[in-house]
Amino acid sequence: MTERLWKGYPVLENVAAGRETCWINPGLRPFHTVCGTLPMTAADIRDAAERLDRFAPFLMRVFPETKSVGGRIESPLRELPALRELLSDRGEAPEGRLFLKMDSDLAVAGSVKARGGIYEVLKHTEDLALRAGILSPGDDYAVLADHRDFFSHYTVQVGSTGNLGLSIGIMSAAIGYRAVVHMSADARQWKKDLLRQKGVEVREYAGNYGNAVAEGRKLSDADPKSYFVDDEHSRALFLGYAVAGRRLADQLTELGMEVDEEHPLFVTVPCGVGGAPGGIAFGLRHVFGDDVHIFFAEPTQCPCMLLGLATGKGSGICVQDAGLTGITEADGLAVSRPSGLVCQRAEHLLSGEFTVSDGRLYDDLRALYETEDIFIEPSSCAAFAGYRGLRTYPAARDYLAEHGLKGKMAGASHVLWATGGRLVPEPIREEYLSKHL
Ligand SMILES: *Cc1c(COP(=O)(O)O)cnc(C)c1O
Repeated sequence: MTERLWKGYPVLENVAAGRETCWINPGLRPFHTVCGTLPMTAADIRDAAERLDRFAPFLMRVFPETKSVGGRIESPLRELPALRELLSDRGEAPEGRLFLKMDSDLAVAGSVKARGGIYEVLKHTEDLALRAGILSPGDDYAVLADHRDFFSHYTVQVGSTGNLGLSIGIMSAAIGYRAVVHMSADARQWKKDLLRQKGVEVREYAGNYGNAVAEGRKLSDADPKSYFVDDEHSRALFLGYAVAGRRLADQLTELGMEVDEEHPLFVTVPCGVGGAPGGIAFGLRHVFGDDVHIFFAEPTQCPCMLLGLATGKGSGICVQDAGLTGITEADGLAVSRPSGLVCQRAEHLLSGEFTVSDGRLYDDLRALYETEDIFIEPSSCAAFAGYRGLRTYPAARDYLAEHGLKGKMAGASHVLWATGGRLVPEPIREEYLSKHL
C-alpha cells in the first residue's frame, strides 16, 4: 500500500524516508474564492475577539500578570537583528525582515494554546454563567471570580500532548472547575507536575495522543456536567486561534511593516493536529488575503498534516501508514493523525509545508538563545524551517517565481511563530540548551 501511495510523488517519497522536505500545496486558492466556502466568517472571528475583550476584567482579577496589558493575552512580535547577523555571517540570512511571534511568552499558559484553549474555556464559562443567571449581558465579567463554588460542580476535560492540557487545566482550575487532563505518553513530566500543582487531575496513558483523546472523550461524554475540549473538531478553539490575525496586523503596523502586494508576508507555524496553525492561517488570510503566504512546519517523523493534505486522505492517514515512527523531540507536535476538519479548512488557505529533523530543532534553539537571549521549546523551533526553506528548496523558489514574488523579497516580512517555551523549568532549559543530536 505504501509504495503505491508514494510512487510518482517525490515529496511523499522524501516524507516516507524521513528526509527533510518541502511540499507546495497545489490546492492553494485566491482568498476571495475560498472565503465564502468556509464554515466560519470574519464576523465569527470578530465575535471571538469581542468575547475575549469582555473577559479582560475577569482575567486581570484572576491572573494579575495580565493587568499591565489590560487583561489581554497577547504576545510580543520581536525582530531578530542579532540572529540575522549570525545568519548573514553564514550566508543564510533571508531577504526581508525577520520576526519572532512570541506565543512562547503568552501569559497564563506559555504557549500558543493560550489562544484557542483559553478562549474555549471562557466561552463555555460564559454559556454556563448566562444560562444559570449568575451573569447577564453587559455585566462586568470580573464578578465571575466570585462564583468558584458554582463552577466547582462542573468538569472540564481534554486530551493533550502537554500544552493544550496546561492551557485548559490552568484556566479551568482558576475559574473553579474540576479539571481533568488526559495526557499522552509523549507529554513531558514537568507539564504533568505543574498541572497537579495547580490542582488539576492528570491521567496518563501508555499509548499515543489519539488514545488519550479517545479516553478523555469517553469519560466526559458519560458525565452530563462535564465538558470535553475536542482538539480535532472544536469550532471555539479554531476561532480563538484565528483572533491572532488582526492582532498580528496591528503589531506589524506598529513596527512600520507594510503588508500588501509589493510587501509579502511569510508566516511559518509549527503544526501538530492542526488546530492552532489552521486557526491562525484562517485569521491571517482574513486580514491579509493573498498577501500572506502561510507554511506549516512538522517534524520529519511526524508530518501528519502534510500527509493528510498531500494525499487528500485527511484524517484517513497517519504517519505510521508512511512507515514513520511518530516519535519526536518536539513533544507539542507529536501527533500521528491530523484533524480531518482542519485538513478541509486549510486545504485552500495554506501555501505549503516544511519538515524538520529533530537535530535541527536543537541547533535553532541554541542559536536563538545565544544571539537573542530568547528561549523557546523544541516544538517552536520548527518555525525556523520557514525562512530557511524558502531560500533552499527548488520547489519553494518555484513557488516564489509563480506568485511573482522573486523581485519583492527585499520588502518581505518573515514571521516565525514561536509556539511555546515560557513555562519550561530551568533544569529542562539547560538540558535542551546542551542537547546536540
Ligand atoms: C500544540 C502546539 C503546536 C501545534 O498546534 P496543533 O493545534 O496541535 O497543530 C505547536 N507548537 C506547540 C509548542 C504546541 O504546544
